[in-house]
Amino acid sequence: MRIGIDLGGTSAAVGLVDENYNVLYKTSVSTNDCKTEKALTEKLINCVHDLIALSGVSLDAVDSIGIGSPGSIDIENGVVLSAGNLPLFNTPIAKILEDEFHKKVYLDNDANCAAWGEFHAGAAKEYNSAVMITLGTGIGGGIIIEGKLIHGKDNRAGEIGHIVVDIHGKRCACGRIGCWETLASTRALIERVKAEVANVPYSVLGNVVAENNGVVDGKTLFVAMKRGCKVAKSIFADYIELLGVGVLNVIEVLRPDIIIIGGGISKEGDTLVKPLVDYIGETSTIIQTSQLNDNAGIIGAALLYLQ
Ligand SMILES: [Zn+2]
Repeated sequence: MRIGIDLGGTSAAVGLVDENYNVLYKTSVSTNDCKTEKALTEKLINCVHDLIALSGVSLDAVDSIGIGSPGSIDIENGVVLSAGNLPLFNTPIAKILEDEFHKKVYLDNDANCAAWGEFHAGAAKEYNSAVMITLGTGIGGGIIIEGKLIHGKDNRAGEIGHIVVDIHGKRCACGRIGCWETLASTRALIERVKAEVANVPYSVLGNVVAENNGVVDGKTLFVAMKRGCKVAKSIFADYIELLGVGVLNVIEVLRPDIIIIGGGISKEGDTLVKPLVDYIGETSTIIQTSQLNDNAGIIGAALLYLQ
C-alpha cells in the first residue's frame, strides 16, 4: 500500500492507495490557514497519522509516500522551492516526512501527479502518451510521452498554461502578456461571466447569478445554458475557441494518444468535450475528461515510485 498527498493552496488531501490503484481511505485538511512552514508540515504529518488510524492499516503495510505540490520543486532532492500562497520556501519536505514515517518519500508537482494518476489508473491507462490539462485558477499541464513523465530543465516542462496565445492580450500572473490561462482557465471564464452579467443584467444568466446571491462559480454558466440562455451560450462558444486553440497547439507539438481535461469544470463532461472536439476537427488524438477527478492527484502521488 502507498500513501499519496495532494497538496493544494486551499487544502491537502491524503489517501491510502492499494495495489489495484484504488483509494481505500482518504482525509483532508485546510492549508490556507497555515502561516509558517512548521505549521503546514506538522498539519500534513498529523493528517497522515489520522489516515493511518482511520484506515486501521498498520504503518508497516505502507511501502512509500508520494507528494504532489504546487509551485516550483526540486524533484531529485525532494525540496519544495516555492508553492504559490503556501509558506514553503526551500522546504525539504521529503526529508521531513521521511524522518517522521521512515518511508521513502517521492515528490513531484501537482499537475504531473494528476497526469500520472490518470495514466496508470484513469482515462489514459490504455495509452502510451497523454497530456493532462487541468483547468482551475490557472491551467496546469502534465505530459507523459511513451510512458515517461516529461520534467524538462529545472522540472519546468509542462507549464502549458503559459503558452502565449494572444500577444496583445492581458498580463498574466507570470509577468508575460497573453498566456493561455489568462483566457481559458476557469477563473478567466468566471471573470467573463461576471463582466457579461454587469453588462446585461436582465438575462437568464443574470437570474442564475442573482439566485446564487451574486456568486459566480464554474457551474454558473452551465446552469444558465441548460435553461436556454443565449448570453451564456455565446460566452461558452467563445470559451470553447479559447480553450480549443491551446489544445490544438498541444496536439501539434506533442501528438499524444489522449488529452485529458481535468479540474472542477471537467465534471460537465460531454457538454464541455463535445464542442471542444468539434472545434479541434479531424485528429487522431482522443479528448476526454478526467476519470479520477479529485483522486487523480492522490493516486498519481502514491504511484510516483513507478517512475
Ligand atoms: Zn503566464
